[in-house]
Amino acid sequence: MEKDTKDGTERERCSFCGRLPSKNQRLFTGTQASICETCVAACSDMMASESEEEKETTPPPTLPLPKPTEIKAFLDQYIVGQEHAKRTVAVAVYNHYKRVNLASSDDGVELEKSNILLIGPTGTGKTLIAQTLARMLSVPFTIADATVLTEAGYVGEDVENILVRLYQAANYDRARAEQGIIYIDEIDKIARKDANPSITRDVSGEGVQQGLLKILEGAVANIPPKGGRKHPEQAFVKIDTRNILFICGGAFDGLDRIIQRRIGQSAVGFSTTRRSRSRETAGELFGRTVPADLLSFGLIPELVGRLPVVSALTDLTAEALREILLKPKNALLRQYQKMFAMEGVALEFDDDAISRVVELALEREVGARSLRAVMEKAMLDIMYRLPVREDVAAVRITKAVINGTEEAVLTLKEIDDTHLKSESA
Ligand code: ADP
Repeated sequence: MEKDTKDGTERERCSFCGRLPSKNQRLFTGTQASICETCVAACSDMMASESEEEKETTPPPTLPLPKPTEIKAFLDQYIVGQEHAKRTVAVAVYNHYKRVNLASSDDGVELEKSNILLIGPTGTGKTLIAQTLARMLSVPFTIADATVLTEAGYVGEDVENILVRLYQAANYDRARAEQGIIYIDEIDKIARKDANPSITRDVSGEGVQQGLLKILEGAVANIPPKGGRKHPEQAFVKIDTRNILFICGGAFDGLDRIIQRRIGQSAVGFSTTRRSRSRETAGELFGRTVPADLLSFGLIPELVGRLPVVSALTDLTAEALREILLKPKNALLRQYQKMFAMEGVALEFDDDAISRVVELALEREVGARSLRAVMEKAMLDIMYRLPVREDVAAVRITKAVINGTEEAVLTLKEIDDTHLKSESA
């Protein structure tokens, strides 16, 4: 055991780094050696990162793979309409995970990865589809917004950060993260302004597309381990993105005009044909997207090549919004009913109240996203008053409540007065 004898007295030092104990630095002494607090902390870090590495080397789990029809049936429980998107995604996801599970059987035939592009207006269910899939498959999931991404080295979020978030969602299990799903929203916002490659660097568009391309096609990215790198010898975690499924989504405003122009130009024949085509809605036109349209929109060819599965989501009609309020497993109205039931109160909605919610939501033009806001506004008053009332048996929401002109109709509990009667007798 090392001793310090400079000042005449014998003092023990840390056997590892040679530090002397001080007020802030305790020294733990055993029979053969001593260790200071700093070295204890360093050892504990090293042990933690070793156990991380151990976790990282666990073989990737083989995922139970539901059939496309089963995937679609699961999606049906939560997502209203969007039949084409649900079917397309079900097949793509099935093929993707089949490929992941088969990756080890090397017979020379390599199945290409099929990342997915969902085109459609805001609030029509793009994120919800990606999220529901991840839940069904029990794989880690994260959402990234393409608009905040920048090329490495610029101010903003690096593309690699998306992988950091997926790794976190996988509870720092690398093998699980490598089988996860990443939803990249607003991919249309990083299109280059001009369909021709720019000579100058386009920080917000092309550079970010290039960055995304790398992780989409499969690359090994270095990301910091859990809690960041505390000392230089701590290794980065290597995430292989080859088996990560990317679902990209965007509203692609203006893509309908590009498609319209292409169809118009290629249409041969009578003007009536052309006229009937021009009456197609944006949603129908989106359904006719071909890769060339995405190039004209400003996506780079390599990225388009890496998004081979394209599906369009349509605007939600009034009937669809109504169904969203009532039908899905966690439908909004059911959620309110459950909340009220917790207070022992039955909640019912008049049919024309529901129609009014749909009307107000449609006015906001953000798809189903506005349903919640409309409902919260209408329900605020009763949700504020109800918890202190013990005499309410049921609440009825009328159209006037939704309009904010009247209060909810209350049915009071029947008071058990047999006791009173017998008293007065
Ligand atoms: P976006 O298409 O912009 O990604 P989201 O999937 O985020 O839209 O939808 C926002 C919310 O609206 C969802 O959380 C869900 O509650 C509701 N919603 C949107 N579309 C649907 C749908 N087709 N079926 C059921 N709910 C939907």
